[in-house]
This record gives sequence, structure tokens and C-alpha cells, in this order.
Amino acid sequence: MESSIIGFSRGDASAKTFKAVNPANNASIDVNYAMASEEDVEEACRLAGEAALEMAQFGRTKKAEFLNALADGIDGIVEELVPVMKAETGLPEPRVRAETGRTSGQLRMFAKLVEAGNWVDARIDRAQPDRQPLPKPDLRAMLRPVGPVAVFCASNFPLAFSVAGGDSASAWAAGCPVVVKAHHAHPGTALLVGNVVVATLKKCNWPEGAFSLLFGEGRTVGQSLVKNKSIKAVGFTGSRSGGRALFDLANARDEPIPVFAEMSSVNPIFILPGMKPDGIDGFSTGLAGSATLGVGQFCTNPGIVFHPAGEFGDQLKIAYVEKMKNVDAGVMLHQGICDSYNQGIQKLTSCEGVTVEYRFNNFAEGVGSQAGPCVLSTSVKEFIADPAMMDEVFGPSTLLVAYDDLGQLVEVVSTMEGQLTASVFGVQEDLKNDQGLVDHLETIAGRILFNQFPTGVEVCESVVHGGPYPATTDGRSTSVGTGAILRFARPVCYQGFPDEWLPDELKEGNPLGLKRCES
Ligand code: NAP
Repeated sequence: MESSIIGFSRGDASAKTFKAVNPANNASIDVNYAMASEEDVEEACRLAGEAALEMAQFGRTKKAEFLNALADGIDGIVEELVPVMKAETGLPEPRVRAETGRTSGQLRMFAKLVEAGNWVDARIDRAQPDRQPLPKPDLRAMLRPVGPVAVFCASNFPLAFSVAGGDSASAWAAGCPVVVKAHHAHPGTALLVGNVVVATLKKCNWPEGAFSLLFGEGRTVGQSLVKNKSIKAVGFTGSRSGGRALFDLANARDEPIPVFAEMSSVNPIFILPGMKPDGIDGFSTGLAGSATLGVGQFCTNPGIVFHPAGEFGDQLKIAYVEKMKNVDAGVMLHQGICDSYNQGIQKLTSCEGVTVEYRFNNFAEGVGSQAGPCVLSTSVKEFIADPAMMDEVFGPSTLLVAYDDLGQLVEVVSTMEGQLTASVFGVQEDLKNDQGLVDHLETIAGRILFNQFPTGVEVCESVVHGGPYPATTDGRSTSVGTGAILRFARPVCYQGFPDEWLPDELKEGNPLGLKRCES
């Protein structure tokens, strides 16, 4: 029996239990996990609240040391992760290894960020005692941690957006304690990483409240966590309904708190008239690769492609279906995701004017939650008439939408919901004659791409993995890249304090050598 991790102790082992399910055969995996009790949630949050003040005073080196040590620790358990994560998620071994590397890479990236120190956005206004008509006081501001953060593990990134993934890494880097709610689909993976986090906290002399890991259902454990007074922000990746429920709950608290939920996006692609028929083959190869990567279970999966109608469109459909026919079925992360993929396709096919161009049906016997590629088509007029076609179908499907003129694309974009990404394909000349399409895309998407596919998100300084609702609940944020730290920090201004009291970041002599905004 395994139970939650509450600081440096283990939680209640007497509660209701659950088991993970192997999606490749839908058989239960023989380890019992006890759901966290109300007392477990309360204690994890109490410890986090206690640790918050101490962690807020941690210097750059102490934070970087922990993040780097944790990265090493996670790299060190890759051989243990491979069998456990493969069994719990159906993801192949190379993906497990690659995601381990991405996770430790993110931790090291945040270590580097905090070591450099510039992320705190130090701003200094020196006093002007002689200013007329009134003297100006000395004001100095920088970003400070918000306090304990609740993190919900993502089903589709069991490592990189789970226990020690991007949300947790950015929260720790900001100086915030983290209380993680494990995803029901991969508790064993969560526990392996959770044990490494605890060992690293001890090694680096961090307080036990810096981390807890709760097993249990979202509607009970997850909601109690978000309602707890000690929690000051939430990081989430998952469904629109789940993210929205947590957002509403957080806003209904006596003290509302920010929820950074990354939820749903169809990541539209727009083929502009400049693409010639000889570009169709290369485009179709790229699109098939992007749309079916990881059985289509990426947030940036391109679900809808707008293309010129007529001969070009007919050739594109034929070429794309041929490419998709070469793609086999794959095991999805859990049966729930598989069911909602099939329901999503069902819903699309029942929309007026949608044609099924291809649907995989050659499933292997005895394999569990399988999904195969699907290609559907419609016209832009039908698309505009039925908003149901804009809903995310999480999996390897593509809706091809034929348009007659660019004005229709601009009209489509003006009715479209917020997106993580929007991609434009064509030639440079298209951008000059786009009738404002790209300007419109900027208003709905967090990342705009030219002649590139949206999957394979680069983890770096400039990336934006966010977007207006429902891509996220806060379009001013990114959950990938160094900018993710800003979600868990808030500006504090110190007015009139003596220099020796000020944080090093704001001291007159700039002992950390930071880039500061000074006047
Ligand atoms: P999910 O159902 O939203 O679950 C994510 C986490 O939120 C789980 O820990 C879940 O708890 C919890 N949760 C869900 N609803 C909740 C509620 N009402 N109150 C409190 N907590 C709640 O997402 P999923 O399991 O990852 O996948 C389901 C669907 O989400 C997919 O089919 C897909 O459509 C979408 N999805 C989208 C993205 C994206 O990035 N766009 C990524 C992943 C999934 P439990 O452990 O109890 O389930």
C-alpha cells in the first residue's frame, strides 16, 4: 500500500484505495494507492504555509543548488521510470527517456535563471529630496514569491508537467512551496519522482513543507487543495471542464487566487494562396507527423487546417489521406481520453456538411485504449455556421476546411476562441497581402508560426505556451519556458528603506550585478 507524501512523512494509509490501469491492455496494475484524507490535505497545506516565509528568503545559490540536484536525481532514476511509466501511460520507452531529459533540462534551466537573478525585474527610483513641488521618495521594486502553489499533474506529460515538471520547477525557482495532486493515471511515476524530491530537499536542507504529493480524486482531494487558505496560486494542464471548475472554485474563495490552467486549443493552420501544388506533398508529410505525434495527445496538436478550395484543396485531401494511411493506431494515455477522442470525432461527423475522408479501422486484437488517425473535411461556410466544429478533439484527427477567399479566413479568426498556437503556411508575399489575417491571429493566439508546425515546443526564454481563454485561464502567462516563473511571483515595492536592509537585488551598489531599470 502506498500513501501520499506529506512533507517528510507519509499520509493516511487507511483510506479508500485505487490502482493505476495499463492502457495497453486495460488491466489494473497491482499496487494500491490510498487517497489522501482531508487531514492529509490540511497538513500538506499547513506545512507549505509554514515553509513559505523561510523559502522566500532563499538566495539564488540555495535555489539553484536544489534545482540542479533534483535534475540530477531525476536523471538518476530513468531506468526505474521506464517500466513504471510505460505501464501506466502506454508511452514508448524513447518518449519516457526523452521526457526525463526534458524534465531535468527544465529544472536546470530554472536553476540558471535564478542564478543569473535578472528575472526579478528590479526597478529603482532614487529619492529626489529637492524635487519641486514635492520631494520624491526612494522606491525600489522586485518580484517576490506568491506563496504555496497547488500543481495538478498532467495526463499527457507524466514527468515534464507533473510532480517535478514545469509548474513545480517554476514555483520552486520563484521561492514557492508546492503541493502536487497526482494524476490518477500515473501514481507510480508520481511516487518515484516524489521520493527523489524528498531526498533532494533533505540533501539541500530545504524545509519539508516545500513539497507534498497527494493521491486521490480531483473532485475531492483536488478541490480541497484549491480551497485551502494556505494555497496562493494553482498550476494545471488538462481538460477545459477540469480547469474551468478549478478556476471557478478559486474565484469563489473568500480570498480568490490566480489559476493558471492550460486547457484546450485546436491550433489552427492557415494555408495561404502562395503555396503551390508542388508544396502539397511536403506539407502533408509534415502535417501527418505533427497531427499524429504521441497519438495526437499534445496541447499543440494541429486539429484544423484551412486551405484554398478547388483543385489545390482536392489535391491536398488526396495527398494528406495517403500520408495518414501510413500511420498506425497507437495506445492513448487512458481509456477516458480514448473515449473522448471517439466522442469528439462522432460529434464532428454529425455536424452538417462534414465528410469523413479517412478513418483508421484496422485495430490490433487484444490491445487496450487504441486510437487511429482520422481525416474530415468541410467548407468554411459550414464551419462558420456551426461552432461545434471549433471544439478540441484530443487525438490524431484533422479537419480540413476549404475557403474561397482570404476575407473568409479573417471572418473565421474573428469568431475563433483563444488558441495556444496559430500557423500560417505560404510565401513571404502572402504576408503582405493577407488582409490583416496575421494581425487578427495575434489577438487569439500565444504563438504564431510561419511555415512551421506547432508541435515540438522549444523550452527556452522566448517561447510562449499560453493564450486567451480557453487555451488558458490567463492569457498573460506561459507555462513553458523561463517566463513561466512570472505566474508565481508578484511585485513588491520597498519605499524609504535603509540600503543595508534592502534585498541584495535592490541595494544601491548592485552587489549581484543585475540588469536593473534605474532612474
Ligand atoms: P482532466 O480530466 O482535466 O484531469 C486533470 C486533473 O484535473 C486530474 O488530476 C483530475 O483529477 C483533475 N480534475 C478534473 N476535473 C476536475 C474537477 N471538476 N475538479 C477538480 N479536479 C478535477 O484531464 P485528463 O485526464 O488529462 O484528460 C481528459 C481530457 O482533457 C482529454 O481527453 C483532453 O480533451 C483534455 N486534455 C487537454 C490537454 C491540453 O493541453 N489541451 C492536455 C491533457 C488533456 P482525477 O485524477 O480525479 O481525474
